[in-house]
Order: sequence, then structure tokens, then C-alpha cells
Amino acid sequence: AVVLGIESSCDETAAALVTSDRAILAQRIASQDDAHRPYGGVVPEIAARAHAERLTPLIEATLADAGMALGAVDAIAATAGPGLIGGVMVGLVTAKALALAGGKPLIAINHLEGHALSPRLADASLTYPYLLLLVSGGHCQILRVDGVGRFRRLATTIDDALGEAFDKSAKVLGLGYPGGPALERLAATGNPRAVPLPRPLRGHAEPHFSFAGLKSAVLRAKESGEHADADIAASFQQAAIDCLIDRTARALDAAGTVSALVVAGGVAANKPIRAALEALASRHGLPFIAPPPMLCTDNAAMIAWAGVERLALGQNDPLDFVARPRWPLDPEAEPARGAGV
Ligand code: ATP
Ligand code: MG
Ligand code: FE
Repeated sequence: AVVLGIESSCDETAAALVTSDRAILAQRIASQDDAHRPYGGVVPEIAARAHAERLTPLIEATLADAGMALGAVDAIAATAGPGLIGGVMVGLVTAKALALAGGKPLIAINHLEGHALSPRLADASLTYPYLLLLVSGGHCQILRVDGVGRFRRLATTIDDALGEAFDKSAKVLGLGYPGGPALERLAATGNPRAVPLPRPLRGHAEPHFSFAGLKSAVLRAKESGEHADADIAASFQQAAIDCLIDRTARALDAAGTVSALVVAGGVAANKPIRAALEALASRHGLPFIAPPPMLCTDNAAMIAWAGVERLALGQNDPLDFVARPRWPLDPEAEPARGAGV
């Protein structure tokens, strides 16, 4: 089967065609970084308008890249939340129109499930259940993934997401937007032990995360004028890694038997983070699986793949499916954000 995937939940407009044998026949990503850069972050109204202008031509170009007509597609999968609601609605409405016009099933995808299943697109050997560290711009969670739509959340952040902490620290260091990749580059030139920074919740019995205090400490280190920017960047990244490793190790102890340690989401593109997690997995005798960086940050191939998995289970959604600004993967674990640990 071939599934057309559509992603528009934040500031990437994306379309992709993915087969059930994991071939990405075509994929296009139009980033809106230039449009949001002057504001230092994503502006929802600008994002929604840009998605509306770009999505249809982008889908046409993606089909043309693969030499396919819409009629040859087996299903249309689109992000239906969570995310910036204007952009999500643009993608979902477009998918509904294509599904209706082409007589194809519509599959409404949770963007986080797209991230969560992306490692299975990248690696055919990955089987359920696996332990997933989901680190992105809006989330920092550890989930046991038992199957499609079957998630048990073991941990979340009590304040900031890790991607948010990277972006805000990058902003403090004048690295512009988006900050994560720029901070990683600068950190590679600095001393990770130069600046003393906190490791929030390290050693805590529950495997939750906290990054707000680390972010504030980066601001104080910068304002003190005592440290080189590269040393602050390297020390921040090291503190983040130490927290991830400590918390993920704790979750591995609580997770029961899993087939692998897996990382996904935009921050999973970070090379030192991947290396540290790989070492952790090997200490636990587990395979480590991380998608290639292009499948870590927002893309439509992961949405199409989640569609492939749901289609294979005979699942699809009605054309009146409503976009969801909030949509937890594990509803039983909500609400925890801000509720204390
Ligand atoms: P969510 O998926 O939680 O809704 P999002 O879709 O905005 O949020 P993603 O696109 O998955 O987030 O990830 C973007 C985040 O990843 C940004 O915060 C960005 O700075 C961060 N990021 C991307 N590359 C790197 C990197 N190399 N190192 C650290 N952070 C990175
Ligand atoms: Mg983006
Ligand atoms: Fe994302």
C-alpha cells in the first residue's frame, strides 16, 4: 500500500508518500524558519497562512516527484493534532478534501504518534514493545510503546520541553532561531565542564524531567560575563545529557521487558545525545534505535508511516474528525504537566 502523509502542526509544511515496505517514494518539507526568525519563535497566524498557501502545491509536487497520480494512493493520513490549531486545520481539511474527491480512506494521525512510530519506518527490525524517549520542541516524555495507539507514559517534564530549553538557551547566547542545531554546533567547540550547571531531578525516584532551572542557570551564566559562549553551550548540552541518561536509566528499570531503547523527536537529531543514549542502551544490553536526523525533526514521512501502520490494522477515520489542539498519547497519564511529581 502507498499512503500520502500531510504534516502542518507547527512551522513545517510537509507531504510524503510512503509504502508499507518502508520506501519513502517522495517527501517534501517547506520550512517557515525565515518567516518566523524576525520574531524569535513561531507566530501561529503566520504559520497557518503559510501552510494554507503552500500545502496544495507541495502535495502536487510530491506526487509529481514520485510519478504518481492521487488515484494510485491507498489512503490519506494527516496530522490532526496536537499542535497550533490553525495549521493543523489546514492540513486536516486538505486531507479530507483529497479523501472525499479520490474516494480514499482518511487517517487522522496524532503528531506525537508520528514521532513515536518513526523509528519503525527507519528500522524494520524494531518490534513492540520498546522504550521511547520522545524529545521535541513541545514534549519530553518516556513512553513504553506496546503497539499502534498503545502507549504507557512513564515520565514527562514538569515544566519545559527539552527542545524548548535548547531554543531558549540558544536565544540567550544570541544564536537565533531555530536554536537547537546552532547550539549543538557551538557546543562542539566548548568545554562541557567549564560552567557549573544544575541537573534538575537527577536521582529522583520517578523518572520525570525538569529543564526550567537549567535554562535559568544558562541565563545567569551568560549575564555573569565570566564564561565563553561555547563553554556555556557545551556545559548546557552536557547537563541536558546527564539528566536524560539518569532519567532514562530509571525508566528502563521500571519499564519491564522491552525490545530496544529508542529516541525520536527533533532533539533526537542531536549527535552527542544519540551517542550517550547508545552507550546507555549497550550498558542495559539493548539495541539502540534512532531515526536519521531528517526523520527526527517534523516531517510528513512519519505521518504517512503512522498511516501505513493504522491502515494495516484496518483503521481509518470519519470525514468529520475534528482537529485537536491537545491530544495526549496516554490519556490516563494526564494531567501531569505542571501538576508536580
Ligand atoms: P512537538 O513535536 O512536541 O509538537 P515540534 O514539532 O515543534 O514539537 P520537533 O520538530 O519535533 O518539535 O522538534 C523541534 C525541536 O527540536 C526544536 O526545539 C529544535 O531546537 C530541536 N532540535 C532540532 N535539532 C536539534 C539538535 N541538533 N540539537 C538539539 N535540539 C534540536
Ligand atoms: Mg520547525
Ligand atoms: Fe514534532
